[in-house]
Amino acid sequence: MINESTSTPIQTEDTIVALATANGAGAIAVIRLSGPQAIQIVHTVFKGKNLLKQASHTLHFGFIADGEVVLDEVVVSLFIAPKSYTKENVVEISCHGSPYIIQSIIKLLMVKGARAAKPGEFTLRAFLNGQLDLSQAEAVADLIASDSKASHQIAMQQLRGGFSNQLQVLRDQLIHFASLIELELDFGEEDVEFANRDQLKSLILEINKVIFELVRSFELGNVIKQGVNTVIAGRPNAGKSTLLNALLNEDRAIISPIPGTTRDTIEEILNINGVNFRLIDTAGIREATDAIEAIGVQKTMDKISTSALLVYVFDVNELSEAELKSDIESLQRPGIPTLAIANKIDLPVKRSITFGSSEAIKYLEISAKEKQHIDELKQLIYDTAIQGRLTGEETVITNIRHLEALQRTQESLERVLYGMENPVTSDFLAMDIKQALYYLGEITGTVTTDDLLENIFSRFCIGK
Ligand code: GDP
Repeated sequence: MINESTSTPIQTEDTIVALATANGAGAIAVIRLSGPQAIQIVHTVFKGKNLLKQASHTLHFGFIADGEVVLDEVVVSLFIAPKSYTKENVVEISCHGSPYIIQSIIKLLMVKGARAAKPGEFTLRAFLNGQLDLSQAEAVADLIASDSKASHQIAMQQLRGGFSNQLQVLRDQLIHFASLIELELDFGEEDVEFANRDQLKSLILEINKVIFELVRSFELGNVIKQGVNTVIAGRPNAGKSTLLNALLNEDRAIISPIPGTTRDTIEEILNINGVNFRLIDTAGIREATDAIEAIGVQKTMDKISTSALLVYVFDVNELSEAELKSDIESLQRPGIPTLAIANKIDLPVKRSITFGSSEAIKYLEISAKEKQHIDELKQLIYDTAIQGRLTGEETVITNIRHLEALQRTQESLERVLYGMENPVTSDFLAMDIKQALYYLGEITGTVTTDDLLENIFSRFCIGK
């Protein structure tokens, strides 16, 4: 039978405490405790109502005192197990946000029996107690880290169950087949087939389809989480820095009429329609005239290779069409969409460029200095990078751990399919199905190892 190992020597008998709000002084700070003794411990230092006799989800005004010394005036919130974030008894103490008060209260609670929480330990307990599956617990960390509408939306989707529910249903069906095949093994030499091979095949194809979409979504999910790397390149004086400023609406990059001023790269975040774009202003791509600039040129080429979008800017009055085409040819990288942006259209003398938009290269005329067509450019950047892939409904994976588990599931399922087409014995088939189940289970946390949990939760902040 398939073993669902959730063995974890992680202690949940004890009561943990940590500051839940950000470090430093603030109007109010929240200190959180979770564990069987949470209410009892606070009760021993609380001057006010008897906390042991209060109902869940109630607030109580009073004082925290160390013997006769009053430390602060506080409001205590009670959450009695299992109706709390961790499914344990949880107490939240809202105190005044002085680092001294916070430290004194936490120290006092530790003297009374609480232990300092490790990073992510509250969420770990929520996971161990079945409140969240593993991918949802990871979504909590993503939610805290989200810095744009799109990354927030994806984290919320995952927190609500997102793709893990879908995978769980398919996994349960696969478990059913695994059991039937194991039954066949019990019959040894007899030629019996309990598991209908056609049904098994169509289930695997269905799972593969779901996994394929999820794996594909990672590319988008990852750029949204990290910000879409967008390189702004062009010859010196084309107006890259001016454009960057126009896009960001401020004067951060140095603008200068001397060619080759932007020697190193400058990165800025531009939010378009809720997605963060990481704009990278590069050094000029003209033939390097000195060593420093040569390094800059190499950097431009490296940056383009790892970006999601190339915005090539040129001075419409300076560049011939042949030069434009050869520049773009030398900069373009396969699979990275390119925008050809004709700048300085405010100037009277114009060369006529008959550069038509194509699949791979889109063309737009702007004036960075006079801020003409900047909004159109923003929309073009968004549309080209996102390509209608972000509708708000789709499931997007952003986590490299999920990607790897999905890819391994795919490999195992491919082996099962191969085994069904070829004279492979049922025990090999059973083994490959088990492998697939193992990797699928890793995503939701049905199958976990201590290392995996340690790895995930140590990345959380303390107090979460
Ligand atoms: P970079 O070397 O590509 O970063 O170019 P800069 O942004 O430093 O611009 C070089 C020069 O071109 C500066 O004097 C800018 O004021 C000027 N410039 C940039 N964009 C425009 C534009 O749209 N119209 C005009 N007339 N001048 C521009």
